[in-house]
Amino acid sequence: MKKLPDVLRDWEAVIGLEIHTELTALETKMFCDCRLSHTAPPNTNVCPVCLGLPGALPVPNEKAIECIVMAGIATNCEIMERSLFYRKHYFYPDMSKNYQTTQGPVAFCMHGHLDLEVPAQEARERPDFSVRKAPDGSYAVPIRIMRIHMEEDAAKMVHVGGGEGRIGGARESLIDYNRCGTPLIELVTEPDLRTPEEARLFMEKLRQTFLALGISDCSLENGSMRCDGNVSIRRRGTAGVGTKTEMKNLNSFKSLHDALAYEICRQAEVLEGGGDVRQETRHWEPSGRRTVVMRVKETADDYRMYPDPDLAPFDLSDEFIGRCRSRVPELPDAKRSRYLTELGLSRHDADQIACNPMAARVFEEAVAIAREMAPLIANVMVNIAPTAKAITSRQVASLARLLATDALTFAQAREVAEMVDGTDEDPETVVDAYNMRQSTDIDTLAPIVDDVLATCVSQVRQYENGNKKVIGYLVGQCMKAARGNGNPKLFNQLLLEKLGV
Ligand code: ADP
Ligand code: ZN
Ligand code: MG
Repeated sequence: MKKLPDVLRDWEAVIGLEIHTELTALETKMFCDCRLSHTAPPNTNVCPVCLGLPGALPVPNEKAIECIVMAGIATNCEIMERSLFYRKHYFYPDMSKNYQTTQGPVAFCMHGHLDLEVPAQEARERPDFSVRKAPDGSYAVPIRIMRIHMEEDAAKMVHVGGGEGRIGGARESLIDYNRCGTPLIELVTEPDLRTPEEARLFMEKLRQTFLALGISDCSLENGSMRCDGNVSIRRRGTAGVGTKTEMKNLNSFKSLHDALAYEICRQAEVLEGGGDVRQETRHWEPSGRRTVVMRVKETADDYRMYPDPDLAPFDLSDEFIGRCRSRVPELPDAKRSRYLTELGLSRHDADQIACNPMAARVFEEAVAIAREMAPLIANVMVNIAPTAKAITSRQVASLARLLATDALTFAQAREVAEMVDGTDEDPETVVDAYNMRQSTDIDTLAPIVDDVLATCVSQVRQYENGNKKVIGYLVGQCMKAARGNGNPKLFNQLLLEKLGV
C-alpha cells in the first residue's frame, strides 16, 4: 500500500468525527438516581429504570442537561429551546430495554463550530471555508459541529475464555449493568477535517474544552471519551464526496490518527484499482495496524426511531440557558490569547498552560501574587516544575522570585521544586535550610574569581589563544571554590570582565 503523503498528493480526505463523552462530573445516572461508579461491584448500582423493567418511568437528570448546554455554548452551538428524547431500537444484551434513549433530528445543541489552527498551506487549500488569520500569523479554520445530543450508555459486557470482543469466540459473556444509563453527550462534526493530523488536533482541542468546563475527565484510555472516525476520499480539486467508512475503537490519539491514515490509503488503493469503496463500519486493530470490516452500515429505518412517550418534550427557559452560560469559564483559546497579549508569555508557555485547567489555576493564582513576574512564573511551571503534581501557587511565585534575583540556578530551582512539591514548605525556607542560596554579592565573588584566574594559568593561556570554550571550566572552578553557592551567571560575567573581553 502507498504511504499517506503520496496518497494525499492525488487524493483529498474528507473526515467527520462522532465523539462520545461520558459526563463523569455527575453523581447519578441519566434517568434514575443510581450512583455512577467505575469501582462498585458489578450490578450493584441498578434499579428498575436503568434495568428497563416494564412500567418504570425515567426522570431526566437536570445536571446532565446543564452539562450539555455548557458544552454547546463552549462550541458556539445554537441552544434549542425545544428538543425531544427519542427511542433508538436495537437488540443486544447490553441494553435490556431494547432501545437506547437518545435524541431525534433536533438535539439540545445544533450548528456550532470549533476553530482549529492549521498551517498556512492547508488554510489556502480551503477556499470553501471562512479562514481567519489571527494577529500572530496563524490560521484558524472553523470546524463545523452538526449537533451535540444527549444519550445514555449501555451496560458493559465482558467476554471470557475466548476471542476478545466477540461473543462467538468466548465461552461466557458477563454483563455489568452499572454502566447502563450513564449520561453521555455525543458531538457530531460536519465532514470538515482534511487530514488525520487535523482530526487528532480537533479531538485534542475538544478534550481541552470539555476539561475546562469540568464536565468530564475526558480519558480516552478509560473510555470516558470515545471517538468514531468517518472518512472518504476524493480526487484533489474535485468537489463531490465519496462513499465513507466509519471506524470504531479509536481509543487513543494515536489510534485515531493511524486508523484514519490507514483507511485513506486503503480507500485509495481500492479506487485506483478500479473498485468501489463500500459503506461499512470497520474496527481498528492497533496490533495488526489495520482496519477490518465489522458490519455493513444499518440505515436509520432499522432503528425505528420515534419520540419517547415517557419523556415530555424538553423546553429550556432563557433563565436556565443563562445560568448555564454564566457557568462556562474562560476557555483555553481565550486564556491563551490573554496570556500572550496581557501577560507577555511566550507562545509555547501560553499554549502549555492555557490548555491545562489545573496548571492555569495555579498560574493565575501565582500571577495574582506577583503579576510583574508572569513570564517567569510561566517558565517555572513549564520548564522548572513540569511534572510537579501538587505544587502551590505560593511555591511557584516564590521560585520565580528566587530566579528573578539570581538567588538560584535553573538546576537548583528544579531540585527545590521537587523538594517542595506536595508539601506546604516555602522554597525560600528550603533554600536557606540547605544553604543553596547563590551569592550575588560582587565583593564575595570577585576574590574567588581572582583566585581561580591565578591558579588556572594554563586554562587562562588557552583562553587567550582563542579557546573560548574553556570559560566553562573556569566557571566550574569558581562554583567549586564557592561550594556551589555562587551564581554561575555572575561568575561568567566577572570572568569575562577580568579576562578583558
Ligand atoms: P450516517 O447517516 O452514516 O450516520 P451522518 O450524516 O450522520 O452519517 O454523519 C456521520 C458522520 O460522518 C459525521 O461526522 C459526518 O461529518 C461524517 N460524514 C458524512 N458524510 C461523509 C463523507 N462522505 N465522508 C466522510 N465523512 C462523512
Ligand atoms: Zn437506575
Ligand atoms: Mg448518523
